[in-house]
Amino acid sequence: MLLSHRIRLDATPAQCDYFARAAGTARRVWNWAVAEWQRQITAGLRPGAMALKKQFNAIKYVHPDWLDAEGRPWLRTVHRDAHAQPFAHLSKTWARYFDARKAGQPAHPPRFKKKGRCRDSFYVANDRFRLEGRSAVLPKIGRVMLAEALRFSGKIMGATVSREADYWFLAVQVEVLDEEALRRSIGDGVIGVDLGVSSAATLSTGEKIAAPRPLRSALRRLRIRSRRHLRKTKAAKAVAGIVGAIPKGTRLPKSANQVKGARRLARLHARIAWVRADFIHKLTTRLCRENQAVAIEDLHVKGMLANARLARSIADVGFYEIRRQLQYKAKRYGTMIVLADRWYPSSKLCSACWQKNATLTLAERVWSCSCGVLHDRDVNAAINLQRLATGALAARTALPVASPAATLDTAARMVPAADGEVTPVRYEHGQQDGSGQEEDAAHFRARF
Ligand SMILES: [Zn+2]
Repeated sequence: MLLSHRIRLDATPAQCDYFARAAGTARRVWNWAVAEWQRQITAGLRPGAMALKKQFNAIKYVHPDWLDAEGRPWLRTVHRDAHAQPFAHLSKTWARYFDARKAGQPAHPPRFKKKGRCRDSFYVANDRFRLEGRSAVLPKIGRVMLAEALRFSGKIMGATVSREADYWFLAVQVEVLDEEALRRSIGDGVIGVDLGVSSAATLSTGEKIAAPRPLRSALRRLRIRSRRHLRKTKAAKAVAGIVGAIPKGTRLPKSANQVKGARRLARLHARIAWVRADFIHKLTTRLCRENQAVAIEDLHVKGMLANARLARSIADVGFYEIRRQLQYKAKRYGTMIVLADRWYPSSKLCSACWQKNATLTLAERVWSCSCGVLHDRDVNAAINLQRLATGALAARTALPVASPAATLDTAARMVPAADGEVTPVRYEHGQQDGSGQEEDAAHFRARF
């Protein structure tokens, strides 16, 4: 099982300087390849990543673009992995692009990377570095201290150095033996999880887990720092005598205070991301550790992010990341992940009598069914999801199915899955009331 451990580097200023140059080199090579690819495509050629790499290797130490003021090839000061890897990445990206186009899916070819707007990173091959306890020995710069030692044992497959605010990280990819990667679960629960905005996760046990909402609490500070930063940019524009949009290719002079402000802003963004990541890691690990089956909704995060009003809180809780982490952690804990498709009306079904409350509105956080049961909307949804998990588990282990999921004719369509694999549960929309597409929108509206 390929696992990745991302470790913060305690690098010296000189080492940070090298990292920035190596990441800049990787970006520049990427941009060169993208430009050359576009040029050749327009010329009717069919360039491949490997051919482009060959072409680049022929010019990289001689072409004036790649020589410094003294006419020396500056690429030699950066380890070659940093400028060879972009071609491998591009090769994959182009393959994905052509596959998507062939399949008729929307796709765009790789784009240019812009300094300050893209992720700064570069690659180091596994035979070019070694780890020694709490330090790593990297090409060209030697020993760099690590914030912690590598937690996994196994064959090291490679590493990526990347930047977040002004911190540098080393992500080490390790091929860990399956028996070592597997984790012991501490419970055999079957749980439904309703992801929401008012509380990040509601469990079918009735427990509500609040998100730390790092963005919301840091929003005020973020606004102040953004405003300060913007003011400095405006001042720089005024000094340069620019009115309106900054013309392409212009580089405004940056004051020391402007650089400092930008760094503060970046650090705040990074901290928000870390608090969020910490919460999601703990939540997903706990769910996988304590349960043999976890059911969540297969939310259409992209579609929901398009709704500007909800976008911030949704992105803040990190729905997409929760699902992604559940899926890979499930493999390590042997947990079964059941995804209820988006037609499944988890909020509207009464978990006691299985009747559908078609008129449930989004404002109703609590509702009572005609059978007399009073429901908390999120807990009810979580219980309905749990039913799917029970059904899916029963279908897999061939135990007698004693779950209402079976009456919904869902269990019959479920395929047995290996541990850790995702079991999608299909729910035929309109099954209950003959309604079709509108079900989807109503369902989402009802949830928030
Ligand atoms: Zn009922």
